[in-house]
Amino acid sequence: MRNYSYGKHSINENDIQAVVKTLNSGWLTQGPTVEKFEQALCKLFGAKYAIAVSNGTASLHLAGLALGWKEGDVIITSPLTFLASANCILYCGATPDFVDIDPVTYTISPNLLEEKILSYKKEGKKVRAVVAVDFAGHPCDWAKLVELSTTYGFDLIDDACHALGAKYESEHICSAKFAKAVNLSFHPVKSITTGEGGAILTNDETLAKKIRILRSHGMTKDPSVMEKIDGPWYYEMHQLGFNYRITDFQCALGESQLARLGEFNSRRREIAEFYNKNLDGHFLKKPGCATNVEHVYHLYPILLKLENLKVGRKEIFESLWEQGIRLQVHYYPVHLQPYYKTSFGFAKNDFPVSEDFYDRELSLPIYPDLTDQDLPYLCDVINKTLKSFSK
Ligand SMILES: *Cc1c(COP(=O)(O)O)cnc(C)c1O
Repeated sequence: MRNYSYGKHSINENDIQAVVKTLNSGWLTQGPTVEKFEQALCKLFGAKYAIAVSNGTASLHLAGLALGWKEGDVIITSPLTFLASANCILYCGATPDFVDIDPVTYTISPNLLEEKILSYKKEGKKVRAVVAVDFAGHPCDWAKLVELSTTYGFDLIDDACHALGAKYESEHICSAKFAKAVNLSFHPVKSITTGEGGAILTNDETLAKKIRILRSHGMTKDPSVMEKIDGPWYYEMHQLGFNYRITDFQCALGESQLARLGEFNSRRREIAEFYNKNLDGHFLKKPGCATNVEHVYHLYPILLKLENLKVGRKEIFESLWEQGIRLQVHYYPVHLQPYYKTSFGFAKNDFPVSEDFYDRELSLPIYPDLTDQDLPYLCDVINKTLKSFSK
């Protein structure tokens, strides 16, 4: 029996040699390869500054801190995301809230966001920032979000962990032209990997400087901000930072992987096209795609048409697992997590589109190393299984 997971990294001989070469270079951490990787990110996407960090959660945390999020600030994200998009708000002591998704793109709904902002306004409160998630690799409606951020004066953070290389209106979302800071993760299930790793892209020099200092304990050797200089050994700390550094050999892998991103993403799109053509639409809804975006399909989420099936999602999930297709479900909406329910009073039916999505979703295998032999096999097994449960 063939075995498939929903996502998988791809490491080739060049990737391995890049790491070996760096291990032999004498540098292990925070050396020249970190900078080289950061510059490669800037060059590929057209952002001015990139700061590589230990993981994508750390990068969200640092973006929030550098933007000055604090107690009392309201920060909004989508309920349909990984925990970290919301947890970073809590790390900064700010208050999280959610806005439901658009039923076609599965990204935050600009209309509902405006409603939420206006309802805060009525209470005399302001929304400080929005963490918008390019779910599954589909870019958010960035033109509308930018318009809202200008009208109502909030900062936009792009959680682009699913969407490395995605485009909105032919523009790389990672260019940071839409959001003030773009957040990336290089966890093995993401588009490219460094083992663990993350980065922030921005065009704001002040923000980039702050994030760089916060990445390493808040230490600075910049004479323009120091109280004094006791000698070449001397550094000062003006803010509370963290050790969120990434190693040189991880960045060597990152650089080598980044060179393969174009090839990875075109393969992901080919796979999605194959699924779009060959999966039986009677039993499932395929992911939609706006006409003005380039989707990179970090995930291929299907929504089961349970009205045409005589069993629930769990039975289908288990049956496919037994046949070697190890699907996942993305995601249990964050506002329904016990911690968020008890701490903030969120409840079922607060965000019905995300909740309905969760109830019916399955993430199908999609990763560059799937072969042309795998695809018809996968569609065949999935279609046959669904048909066997037909009402
Ligand atoms: C993976 C992911 C993160 C966190 O990244 P890590 O590198 O695992 O810390 C944040 N947001 C989203 C949407 C993600 O998918």
